[in-house]
Amino acid sequence: MNIQVLGAHNCESKDSKLISLLIDDTLAIDAGGLTSTLSFPAQQKIKAILLTHQHYDHIRDIPAIAMNFYLSGATINIYSTPPVYDALTTYLLDGKLYPNFLEQPQENPVIKFTIIEPLKTEQIESYSILAVPVNHPAPTVGYQITSPDGKVVFYTGDTGPGLTDCWKYVSPQLLITETTAPDKYKEFAKESGHLTPSLLKQELVSFRELKGYLPQVVVIHMNPRQEKEIEAEIAAVADVLHNSITLGYEGMQLHL
Ligand SMILES: [Zn+2]
Ligand SMILES: [Zn+2]
Repeated sequence: MNIQVLGAHNCESKDSKLISLLIDDTLAIDAGGLTSTLSFPAQQKIKAILLTHQHYDHIRDIPAIAMNFYLSGATINIYSTPPVYDALTTYLLDGKLYPNFLEQPQENPVIKFTIIEPLKTEQIESYSILAVPVNHPAPTVGYQITSPDGKVVFYTGDTGPGLTDCWKYVSPQLLITETTAPDKYKEFAKESGHLTPSLLKQELVSFRELKGYLPQVVVIHMNPRQEKEIEAEIAAVADVLHNSITLGYEGMQLHL
């Protein structure tokens, strides 16, 4: 399994893209940085997009990639929960802000949207996918993705503390999660459903207690302006836990 971090941040600039991951060039998770980081041929290779939740930094490129697929006569499968479907059809693909590519062109709409049921394993392309609810103000699911040769990655999506229940359902070799801000914003993070390095540490301790091991950890969704501070605090957590925890970045390639 080859995992590419396309967008690793919660704010966009020339040097930082919003959240998107790409697995084996064909399966995307979240659509914050899909079109701005991939050539047209690379976009065409994507067969399916899994969306964790409705926040703008995770769904932003759905209209853009749908337009590209429409103009090349292709279709794309999108999978997520009912609230994400509602947000997309109410606000972005409502026929006013942008065409409703879930219904156009009528004979073969660009987007085929499939509702995914949490905690029920589904086959999507050649992968086993398990959506697992996490703690965030908008309803959010993380995705555990298992390749045909048994490699397993779990991406939490945006989440605050309290992942013990979630850990029960997953056993990844690689955990991709979030660390939005440094520890001085811990209270803000708790209120807004995000993690800081010390909040992540607590979640990893609970993972290890429950599962008896820790996977390799990559964090994304950093605020670019606070990244140096986050990096130093994450390094300290990695030291204490004797585990690999690194910051993701645009263009990062991970292999399982
Ligand atoms: Zn969010
Ligand atoms: Zn976000």
